[in-house]
Amino acid sequence: MKPETACIHAAALNRNKSNTTGAVAVPIFQTSTFAHLGFGQSTGYDYSRTQNPTVEHSEELVAALEGGRRASAFATGMAAVATVMELFKPGDEIIATDDLYGGSIRLFNNISAKNNIIINYIDTSDLSAVESAITPATKAIFIETPTNPMMKVTDISAVSRLIGERDILLIVDNTFLTPYLFNPLAHGADIVVHSGTKYLSGHNDTLAGFVVAKTSELAEKIHVLKKTTGAVLSPFDAFLIIRGIKTLAIRMEKSQSNARKIAEWLKSQPKITAVYYPEQGAMISFKTDSVKTAQNILNKVELILYAESLGGVETLITYPATQTHADVPEAERLARGIDEKLLRLSVGIEAVEDIINDLENSLK
Ligand SMILES: *Cc1c(COP(=O)(O)O)cnc(C)c1O
Repeated sequence: MKPETACIHAAALNRNKSNTTGAVAVPIFQTSTFAHLGFGQSTGYDYSRTQNPTVEHSEELVAALEGGRRASAFATGMAAVATVMELFKPGDEIIATDDLYGGSIRLFNNISAKNNIIINYIDTSDLSAVESAITPATKAIFIETPTNPMMKVTDISAVSRLIGERDILLIVDNTFLTPYLFNPLAHGADIVVHSGTKYLSGHNDTLAGFVVAKTSELAEKIHVLKKTTGAVLSPFDAFLIIRGIKTLAIRMEKSQSNARKIAEWLKSQPKITAVYYPEQGAMISFKTDSVKTAQNILNKVELILYAESLGGVETLITYPATQTHADVPEAERLARGIDEKLLRLSVGIEAVEDIINDLENSLK
């Protein structure tokens, strides 16, 4: 099955056991608990923190799209990342991309650090840096590619080859590319993390997170952690994610084609001094000639919305320095190039001419 078909049918093929009506859209099982027919009997569903048919459907869909054994659905992307971190114990070392999503950095620096998990941030796009960062205590490599917001690309297959037979989990946050454009598990990753809030939902209307595991053993560990810590996805939000994923393919194609044109256009603008676009996906970061130009754009855009987040049908513009990356210590932020001249664009599916017109007017 091709990816665009899988977005619509992957989970429908092994349709949920509870769907006996033939409903085409997945029913929302808005129930916390499930009754037993008799002593020692179960329908397979007992309590919705552990499993719920609608949520299970979203998990089957995301697992199928990523080519994983099984997925676990969470209330948010951060709940997904936080749960993955529960796989580790005090003294474990994790190598992480230095240009990560701000929320992941906050989690690692505050909560993981408190639990004595040592996070070593490096530029994972530099393979020799990855190689020299590996120690006998390294238990995982956590990669975001392309990075947020500087769009640096890490070669996941090459990192996987570097790990070789070592007992190190390769974890990839695949939020930016989505399973439609990239499948980390097929390139040697062990775990894929998603903020389902972004492209999977696609409409800026739902928070969600997913963890997809390559092996049943890892998937079972994540599932037990999920039901134990409890930040699960609600049935209604699972329904919205399933609905969103049906159009993932056409949304990614359109927003990517818009992004390619906008990146080219930005490069021709005298007030834009740098454009960061990895030739894939629909996220673009760019630098302006002055802080004033950057802030003018934020004040003047009309169609484009000045808001955090990404991956929806609406084009959003973000100011990483005060929004997504406000909690990254200033020196670290500046060292990574996240200054007050940097803007990040999540390109939506509007007509590209309208997006460019809006940017053009905001640059005047
Ligand atoms: C948004 C985001 C997260 C966190 O997801 P939430 O759903 O906001 O909790 C994690 N990683 C990346 C790359 C993100 O963009």
